[in-house]
Amino acid sequence: MALSIAAAIASLKTAGEIANGFLTLRDQAVIQSKVIELQSIILAAQQGAITAQSEQMELVDEIRALRAELDRLAAWSATADRYQLTDLGKGVFAYKPQAETLGSDPDHFACVQCFETGRRSVLQNLGRFNSRERLECQACKSAINVPVA
Ligand SMILES: [Zn+2]
Repeated sequence: MALSIAAAIASLKTAGEIANGFLTLRDQAVIQSKVIELQSIILAAQQGAITAQSEQMELVDEIRALRAELDRLAAWSATADRYQLTDLGKGVFAYKPQAETLGSDPDHFACVQCFETGRRSVLQNLGRFNSRERLECQACKSAINVPVA
């Protein structure tokens, strides 16, 4: 964008110099030639300004998207800070909210696989099978079998 703006400014400067030169011209053919040159330079300046405006709009969109991503990451960071990786027994892991951060939420476990990709998904208890409880993530469909104490 800086190049487009610089080109537009340079074109306008040249156009101004040509316009100043009109004051001393008396020959109609020279005046006509200078008018054509001036029109060409004004068109180049307009094109530079249009290009710069287009590039500016792209940058505004990019800033908007980056701010949204920053907000999403800040929200995720606040959520992730509430949880701690917990060993449910025999190397079976899940994320568990720290007790003081539960608020009105019931105690629960969150899927490790989803958590590591920046998403919290509460594990659902599918019941007891062979003295283990089976917890499943509804989002990624991964399941863990937790030894029952
Ligand atoms: Zn999951």
